[in-house]
Amino acid sequence: MEFKDPAVKARVEQAGKLTKKIFGNKVYIRGIIEFSNCCRKNCNYCGIRRGNTSVVRYQMSPDEIVAKAEENLKHGIKTIVLQSGEDLSYTKDVLVNIIKRIKALDPECAITLSIGERTEEEYKAFKDAGADRFLMRFETADRALFKSLHPDDDYDYRIEAIKTLQRLGYETGSGFMFGIPGEAPDADDHNIALLKELGVAMVGCGPFIPAERTPMEGSGIHADLERCLDIYAKIRLAMPEVNIAAATALDAMDKGARKLSLSAGANVVMPNTTPAEYKDNYSIYERKGKLDDAIADAKKLGAELEKLGYTPLWNQRGDSRVK
Ligand code: SAM
Ligand code: SF4
Repeated sequence: MEFKDPAVKARVEQAGKLTKKIFGNKVYIRGIIEFSNCCRKNCNYCGIRRGNTSVVRYQMSPDEIVAKAEENLKHGIKTIVLQSGEDLSYTKDVLVNIIKRIKALDPECAITLSIGERTEEEYKAFKDAGADRFLMRFETADRALFKSLHPDDDYDYRIEAIKTLQRLGYETGSGFMFGIPGEAPDADDHNIALLKELGVAMVGCGPFIPAERTPMEGSGIHADLERCLDIYAKIRLAMPEVNIAAATALDAMDKGARKLSLSAGANVVMPNTTPAEYKDNYSIYERKGKLDDAIADAKKLGAELEKLGYTPLWNQRGDSRVK
C-alpha cells in the first residue's frame, strides 16, 4: 500500500514488527453470532436503532443460538461472540441458560458478550454462568460528542459499566469509532489515551460508516485507509500485548482493509457466522457487497490468511495476555 505520510508508514511498519514479535504470525479467530437486531436504544449512527422502522426485526431462539454456537465449535472456532442490540426480552435467565448450554457443549470454549448495558447483577449472573469476555465500546472519549450521538445514553454510566465488567473479572474489551462527523482533530489521541487508562484486555475500533434511515445517513465516510492503519498502529504501540480485532467495518470501507490491518497491529479476526436468513437485517451500516457470512467463509478467510503468511489459530481460545 502507498502511504501519503512517511510518518504513518514508519509507525505502521513498527507496529507490524511489534505484533509479529509478540504474537508471531498467529491470528486469533472469533465467530460472531448476531442473535437479535432489536434494540431499545436510538444511537444516531446505528442502522438498527430503535427509531429505524424500516428494519425487519428478528430474534434468534435460544435453540437456534446454541445450534449455531455448536456449529462454530465443531469447526474449531473456540470463541463465540454473542452480539445483539440492547434487547431486554433476552432476560437474565434466558441468557444464563444460553451461556450454560454453550459451555456444556465445550467447557474449554470462550464466550464473549456484546449485548450493551445491563445491570451489575446481570453481568455477574452471566459471568457466573460461564461468560468469559465482554465487549463494550465507549465509542468516543469526547463527552459532548458522546452526548450528541446517544440520545438515551450517558458517558459516565458507560465508562462505569466498562469498569464494573473489569471488576467482575471479565476479559473486557472496549474501543471507539473514528471518522465521526464533528470529532476533534486530535480525537484519535484522546480515544487511545482512554483505552490505555482503562487498561482494557481487548480493543475493537472501526471507522464510522453512515447507515441509511438514521440521522447520520449521507454524512459520508471521513476516515481513509491510511488513517485506519495508523490508528491500529498507534494502539499496538501504546498497548503492546492487547488483543486488537480487525474490524469488519474496515472491509465495508475498502475490501481487503481488514486483512491489511493485521500488518498494522491487529491480531484477531471475527468472521460473521450469523445464519444467512438473518444477517442481512443486522445492517448497522451500509456494507459493500456480500458479507462473509458462514462457517465456510470463515474457513475461506483462514485460507486467505494462510496465503498471506499468517497462522489462523483454530481450536484455541486466544485469551488476552492483558490480565
Ligand atoms: N448494542 C451493543 C452495543 O452498542 O454495545 C452491541 C451491538 S452494536 C451494533 C456494536 C457496535 O457497532 C457499536 O459499539 C458501534 O461502535 C458499532 N456501530 C454501530 N453503528 C455503526 C456505524 N454506523 N458505523 C460503524 N460502527 C457502528
Ligand atoms: Fe442499539 Fe448498539 Fe446500535 Fe446503539 S449501537 S442502537 S445500543 S445496537
